[in-house]
Amino acid sequence: MVKTDNFQRPVLSLRISITSRCNINCFYCHHDGVIPKQYEMTPSEIERISRIAKNLGIKKIRLSGGEPLIRGDIIDIVKRISALGFQDVSLTTNGTLLKEYAQKLKEAGLNRVNVSFDTLNPETYRFITQSNYLNQVKEGIKEAVKADLYPVKVNMVIMRDLNHQEIWDMFQFCKETGAILQIIELLKTESCPDTDFFDDYHYDIGIIEGELKEKATDIKTRPFMQDRKKYFLEGSEIEVVRPMDNTEFCKNCTRLRITPDGNLKPCLLRNDNLVDLMEPIRRGDSDEKLEKLFLEAISNREPYYDHC
Ligand code: SAM
Repeated sequence: MVKTDNFQRPVLSLRISITSRCNINCFYCHHDGVIPKQYEMTPSEIERISRIAKNLGIKKIRLSGGEPLIRGDIIDIVKRISALGFQDVSLTTNGTLLKEYAQKLKEAGLNRVNVSFDTLNPETYRFITQSNYLNQVKEGIKEAVKADLYPVKVNMVIMRDLNHQEIWDMFQFCKETGAILQIIELLKTESCPDTDFFDDYHYDIGIIEGELKEKATDIKTRPFMQDRKKYFLEGSEIEVVRPMDNTEFCKNCTRLRITPDGNLKPCLLRNDNLVDLMEPIRRGDSDEKLEKLFLEAISNREPYYDHC
């Protein structure tokens, strides 16, 4: 049975951060709201937590990080989770290792991927990620489309004067490749390495939404996905993610998170209401006790932006 929090929001998805480690270093990265720690859950701990989540009505699992594909046991993790029979098992990756992994992930039962890719310009890519993987990421996206990890979404965080001018080029790249572009507003969080970048680079994607409204032949709202808007145009689509100061985004949030070291995390933007699962797992607590901790985390859920 689906559980609902104190704000009548059903809890339908679990985003599992399986590592804090990453092989690139995006200057704006919020690390999925996680304060980096050394400890990582084992595949069997992740499987057990996912099974409990399923018993509590959670329908969808997303693996994230850090970079999930740098875990040597990623295929084992995906196999274990997908064997549990969720409606949807997906993964968010920086794409640098995706060419090698796309087919194996599909065979392990992964349904789809989101690839974070902010620019087609090699210099801008180097500036953002402090790495030179641009071509590998492009290849990875193509391989994921080929492996039918459908829909392959490209997550593009929009930054003023850095890549905001590239949105239509990225849209063309996605169209040609068979991927879907998802543009994301830059977010300021406690877990960003330094927050100075925000004033320099924040770009109000309301400006782009205005353009999209004019160009789109159809617009859809994703009700259980934070009320995100999808704009259909030129035989493809662009999805818009605007969490910042967005009461609708929070009102329609159906997500619970878990950190790499096994803390249930009710909100991306907070670290003061975590619920530890790892200590109870390690001391051998029963599934019933772990379910209670899930329920505690669900009851800790509050809309972060709630000022209207
Ligand atoms: N390593 C994986 C990746 O690169 O996709 C997964 C982790 S990454 C933290 C997950 C997503 O968060 C990426 O799509 C990334 O672009 C987005 N993200 C990170 N920091 C952000 C920020 N400050 N504002 C908006 N989105 C951000």
